[in-house]
Amino acid sequence: MNRVGFVYHPDYLLHAAPFEHPESPARLLAIVEHLASNGLADRMVSLSPGYPDESDILRVHDPDYLRKLEAACRRGDTTLDAEDTYLCRNSYTIALLSAGGAIAGAEAVATGSVRRAFCAVRPPGHHADRTTGMGFCLLNNVAIAARYLQARHGISRVFIVDWDVHHGNGTQAIFLEDPSVFFFSIHEHPSFLYPGTGRRWETGKGPGEGTTLNAPMSPGAGDEEYRMAFEQMLRPAVERFRPEIFLVSAGFDAHGDDPLADIHITAEGYRFMTRFVSEMADRYCGGRIVSVLEGGYEISSLVSSVETHVRELLGP
Ligand SMILES: [Zn+2]
Repeated sequence: MNRVGFVYHPDYLLHAAPFEHPESPARLLAIVEHLASNGLADRMVSLSPGYPDESDILRVHDPDYLRKLEAACRRGDTTLDAEDTYLCRNSYTIALLSAGGAIAGAEAVATGSVRRAFCAVRPPGHHADRTTGMGFCLLNNVAIAARYLQARHGISRVFIVDWDVHHGNGTQAIFLEDPSVFFFSIHEHPSFLYPGTGRRWETGKGPGEGTTLNAPMSPGAGDEEYRMAFEQMLRPAVERFRPEIFLVSAGFDAHGDDPLADIHITAEGYRFMTRFVSEMADRYCGGRIVSVLEGGYEISSLVSSVETHVRELLGP
């Protein structure tokens, strides 16, 4: 069995909308209670997130954006620029702690104290780019962890697998011109599904040409279409890139029961995807995976998908 770290902090529940919203504290609470009740939490190593140094955040985000976000929360604003992204007075602090959670998972995996980590954090991150929070995301947790691994642990090649049903536009933009971070995203893509980016021809730019790979899926796609994309697109990309560590933007909103999209992944699909990345990680990078929670809005399919994911990270 692998040593798997589990990152969580009760303060993650303090980021809450002043109105009904799908990205709610109830999501995370349900995950934590479920993993405790079925004994999986006891099989993982509990990791406590800290507040990151500002320099860890500034490798990814613009200082003016941080000041703007902090000021908006202090004023009591209830939304950021994009109307879909809510704020409360705690949001800036908890967004820092959420990024700190991804860093805690990355640190534990990089130092070898655990082989893999699952970071149950919120707010999510993959829509946030250098200067903009959007799509319920304030700071890009996965991108911050990637840069942390490179700066603090001398890791040169990081591979990000983003299977949230929405395109990870923020992560893509941050690393678009960077050949040291490979970004693979599989997501639903009719023209109207948020955020609208992530077409096949978005493959990177300048020196980063060829290290962005998008697998847009049509509405109604499910386990079989995802399995084919992993085999035909992800596998050769990993073999070429030879990563030193995997980060997963682990959204669970591609589940068939999730109300925010129209992809029909089952628990078996999440088992396959986790096993696929685990096998690739075993082959190329000593099994090192840092998985960071993104979306997933239907509570019962969210907790069952996370359970499947964690069981596969733990291994036999
Ligand atoms: Zn999503």
